[in-house]
Amino acid sequence: MRPFAYSKATSEPDAIARGGETATKFLGAGTNLVDLMREGVEVPAALVDVTGLSGSIEETDNGGLMIGAAASNTAVAESAAVRERYPALTRAILSGASAQIRNMATVGGNILQRTRCTYFYDLEGSRCNKRRPGEGCDAIDGFNRGHGILGVSQDCIATHPSDMCVALAAFDALVHLAGPGGRRIVPLADLHRLPGDTPDVETVLAPGELITSVELPAAPVDARSTYRKVRDRASYAFALVSVAAVLRVTDGRIAEVRIALGGVAPKPWRTREAEDALVGATPGETAFVRAADIALSGATTRPGNAFKPELMHRTIVAVLQDLAGASE
Ligand SMILES: Cc1cc2nc3c(=O)[nH]c(=O)nc-3n(C[C@H](O)[C@H](O)[C@H](O)COP(=O)(O)OP(=O)(O)OC[C@H]3O[C@@H](n4cnc5c(N)ncnc54)[C@H](O)[C@@H]3O)c2cc1C
Ligand code: SF4
Repeated sequence: MRPFAYSKATSEPDAIARGGETATKFLGAGTNLVDLMREGVEVPAALVDVTGLSGSIEETDNGGLMIGAAASNTAVAESAAVRERYPALTRAILSGASAQIRNMATVGGNILQRTRCTYFYDLEGSRCNKRRPGEGCDAIDGFNRGHGILGVSQDCIATHPSDMCVALAAFDALVHLAGPGGRRIVPLADLHRLPGDTPDVETVLAPGELITSVELPAAPVDARSTYRKVRDRASYAFALVSVAAVLRVTDGRIAEVRIALGGVAPKPWRTREAEDALVGATPGETAFVRAADIALSGATTRPGNAFKPELMHRTIVAVLQDLAGASE
């Protein structure tokens, strides 16, 4: 590992003042960043530790929650308010990593964790456009079982690995940012970029911008939500596919629905056209199959991940059936 400077921010302004340099990175618990530094994939000259900033979970005036970016994944999953009103978020977080990692990992770091594409981590042996733009992508014709089928490009087919982000996208979470240019709020679903021909640019964050908190708008009244993750092992494995869904049924019709997909795209993937097709429909297999068809209509596969559209299709239908059954 290359030598680097370390300092701990005492406040948001302090973090922003220290983090302005391009060779500086904010440090959460380091469960992803330090691994990448050990492999030589990330080589920051300086780290600014932001774990001392706000990690509180507070009620907002509009009935939602404001979660400080330094909150641990465990604290969010175990919050009584999250468990009661946003159960899909609790389920998503608890399906990820291990208890020890969740105890350390922060909300800000989880959102900005980098892909688990093995070629991305293989500095010496593999070509990777995300690491070195323009050199090629060894995943496209290589081992791509875990790779993406939606929103991918000819230059990169990596997925975003977070479970938590999939649930946050389904709840229309807002990410609060602060940086040298001031403060702003970005919907979580718009924070990560699609790879296109610049897969090295992963988010809309400006240099030196800090995630300060994540806002959950009020959960839809009388809605049910859940998260299902399909993976190779029952624990300690990233998603092959996952689905977070929120469903409200009124008088036998779907009044509101939100579906976000994980394990299949470079970002948590909202399926707005499928959601629109479901509103007003009678909940049941016919409507859910049609919604899954729409959600996956743009899927492209490689030989290693050709099983994903069918697996994802079945998972979407099963999750919606579970929620509809529970709503009856
Ligand atoms: C063995 C293993 C298994 C795992 N399994 C899963 C899994 O199944 N599902 C899953 O979702 N995750 C999984 N993870 C990933 C884990 O969730 C992430 O490593 C963790 O959430 C990252 O949080 P952190 O605080 O350690 O971030 P760090 O590693 O400290 O930082 C990650 C990135 O975020 C940036 N950053 C951190 N905080 C901020 C901030 N406030 N503002 C701006 N930038 C910031 C850092 O600069 C860095 O680029 C696994 C990790 C490991 C090691
Ligand atoms: S899929 Fe993306 S991250 Fe993986 S090797 Fe290709 S360019 Fe790199």
